[in-house]
Amino acid sequence: MSELNLVLLGPPGSGKGTQGERLQADFRLPYYATGDILRAAVRDETELGRKAKEFMERGDLVPDDVIIGVIAERVQGEEASDGFILDGFPRTTAQAEALDDEMERLGRELTAAILIEVSGDEVVRRLGGRRTCVNEGHIFHVEFDPPKNEGVCDVCGSRLVVRDDDKPDVIRHRLEQYHEKTEPLVSYYEERGILRRVDGELDPDAVGDRIRALLATLQMEERI
Ligand SMILES: [Zn+2]
Repeated sequence: MSELNLVLLGPPGSGKGTQGERLQADFRLPYYATGDILRAAVRDETELGRKAKEFMERGDLVPDDVIIGVIAERVQGEEASDGFILDGFPRTTAQAEALDDEMERLGRELTAAILIEVSGDEVVRRLGGRRTCVNEGHIFHVEFDPPKNEGVCDVCGSRLVVRDDDKPDVIRHRLEQYHEKTEPLVSYYEERGILRRVDGELDPDAVGDRIRALLATLQMEERI
């Protein structure tokens, strides 16, 4: 049985998390959002979890070798014997190299880096349409999930506002940072021949279908 060892890449608003969860269900692969597995290691007080906690409590970034260690612990588990989905790591080429080294040490390799591509305008449309209520943070979307009365929360009747994070300028700035960081990573995986691009502007079901089809092809190629 061929393994599916996957890295998911995509800008904020690309639906990466949704697709990761679908893949997890469809291919029965564990989905490792790095923030979540770090928090789990801290909660379970593993040796690496205790190390990570020191950095997190100080408000520092957890160093790459600690994150790689936490990922390696998971990847070696029974649950990941057929593969895994990694989301949120690597973010830099240095991290990608460290991950490759660790995978090699484990006698495995990445099968594909899946890049969900969405234009800046579409990201602004998706994230910029969010309206949040000032009282309890109930979230609506002007286009996809509009409130019954404009500017008023359906749940608690409070005023709806655009959070600072959801303002177009802020979104565009985050996107710039994302592209700056991610482009070298995209080239890295492209050079290794494992980058797979998926059109993330389709509706979520269609995006899911594309990813499933491409993974099925990869599995077939491995078996030949
Ligand atoms: Zn509300």
